[in-house]
Amino acid sequence: MKIAIYNENFHEQTEKTVKKIYPDGIHGAIKAGIADDEFEIDTVTLESIDKLTDEYLNNTDVLIWWGHVKHGEVSDEIAERVANAVNKGMGIIFLHSAHFSKPFKKLMGTPCNLTWRENGDRELLWVTNPSHPIAQGIGRFIKLDHEEAYGEPFGIPEPDELVFIGSFQGGEVFRAGCCYKRGMGKVFYFQPGHETYPIYYEKDILKVIKNAVLWAKPIYRTNSLDAPNVQIPLEEIL
Ligand code: ZN
Repeated sequence: MKIAIYNENFHEQTEKTVKKIYPDGIHGAIKAGIADDEFEIDTVTLESIDKLTDEYLNNTDVLIWWGHVKHGEVSDEIAERVANAVNKGMGIIFLHSAHFSKPFKKLMGTPCNLTWRENGDRELLWVTNPSHPIAQGIGRFIKLDHEEAYGEPFGIPEPDELVFIGSFQGGEVFRAGCCYKRGMGKVFYFQPGHETYPIYYEKDILKVIKNAVLWAKPIYRTNSLDAPNVQIPLEEIL
């Protein structure tokens, strides 16, 4: 399987605390954490984002996306390309603040806004659907000692399947693991992963991301989103 991890890689370069947690970047931590003999994993940062050509995306099975303060620097053209690739069958996983990324908003078609508080709340990520492939190997919940609180209302379309609800010490609840089908492709949004906490070293979080990669693997890919005019009918029309 060909997997690509996009991370804007900004906080790691500009904030000491984040650099200390993720010396190889968030993308590096996720790459190491989900490594598997079956996976060929490439990483892309904002600096190298021009790599995301149609050809590259057509050859990628699942793309993982982490972005936060640099959403605006991702061109509309690249966002369109990514959304098209999903509609053609590529799987995609949006992590944490990628809820405001251009490709996610394009695929959802809604504002994707939420409420938030950066106060190091304890979070419990409750499994709402134990039979779902993404929840396999996870107990009743995942406990994170500290995470940025995200809260409802979350401006997304009703998920096709909900796998996790996060509950925060300060009282908020949040739809933390949401599945969608878009065209031929599968989309998973997963809330954990604020950059100042070592979330992407947590065994269960990595397990969920790995499960999601396998779940989002394309089953069928089309190479065209056109609507062809089929002039010649199979039978004579009487
Ligand atoms: Zn955050």
